[in-house]
Amino acid sequence: MRSWNCPGGTGAKTPAGADVRVLFCGVRGSTPSPGPEFIRYGGHTSCVAICHDDAARPVLILDAGTGLRRATPLLDGRPFEGTILLTHLHWDHVHGLPFFRAGDRDDARVTLLLPAQESGESAAAALARGMSPPHFPIGPEGLRGDWTFGSLPPGQIKAEGFTVEAREVPHKGGRTYGYRVSDGHSVLTYIPDHCPTVLGPGPEGLGEYHPAALDLTAGTDLLIHDAFLLAGEVPAEAAFGHAAADYAAGLGLRAGARRVALAHHKPDRTDDELDEMARRFAPGGPAAPSGPAAPGEPAAPRGPAAPGTAGVPETFVAAEGGILGL
Ligand SMILES: [Zn+2]
Ligand SMILES: [Zn+2]
Repeated sequence: MRSWNCPGGTGAKTPAGADVRVLFCGVRGSTPSPGPEFIRYGGHTSCVAICHDDAARPVLILDAGTGLRRATPLLDGRPFEGTILLTHLHWDHVHGLPFFRAGDRDDARVTLLLPAQESGESAAAALARGMSPPHFPIGPEGLRGDWTFGSLPPGQIKAEGFTVEAREVPHKGGRTYGYRVSDGHSVLTYIPDHCPTVLGPGPEGLGEYHPAALDLTAGTDLLIHDAFLLAGEVPAEAAFGHAAADYAAGLGLRAGARRVALAHHKPDRTDDELDEMARRFAPGGPAAPSGPAAPGEPAAPRGPAAPGTAGVPETFVAAEGGILGL
């Protein structure tokens, strides 16, 4: 890791020499969490902005939760000219759209892509079902600037100098993608909403490590993954469509990720509770995985992994405002 201004960490640094910069604009799941208990990890919902190293401003944005408002200051008074990729259309991934001032201005140029709807409905029509009167004062066509709305089938596209692979992952209520984004040197994997227990219990009872998740994550520099649940909450709450933090760490380990960012935090998960999660997944912590189970064998026992253990990804809890160089 070249830099990360995590809570209690060393403060924001410029990720000099990074090929790609990742800016965490919103890491909360389901609904925003304002209030004093949520200041350090932040209350805005899902949004990640990505810059090329040689550019000061983001050109690719993953999800448009309320965290999208934080992308406007990153543009330093200029219009957004780039692409927004939505993983799916749940509120916590789209509610920032009409409040994105850098995108809602006459000189903006925005391509917004979302999973192709199985019904065949157009992207703009699907978006308008949640964003139009009487639910909201304007529809997608009311956004100022040059907006293009497109449906994305699973597969590979080029966008803003990145190669993006979209794969469908199990969630709940509407087609949902995970994305693998590469500039040819660095790779980012983004799977903020994921319910792997839909496909079976998997080796640890936390869900299957299925091909789409493994392929998207294989050898990635950074996996940003759903950590809505704790392992103990899975039996009662997995039906809501989410994954446990332990599954995210396990996926990173099995797929050879270098780093895992635990994200899409439960709205009620306080800063103190997320600090505790961070301690559990710190190198040598009690949740650090000691190794993958071989096929057909029971899961490897959980135990301290030595700091720097080969093959064990660095796992941390994502915080709003964090900047990471890949
Ligand atoms: Zn979500
Ligand atoms: Zn969702």
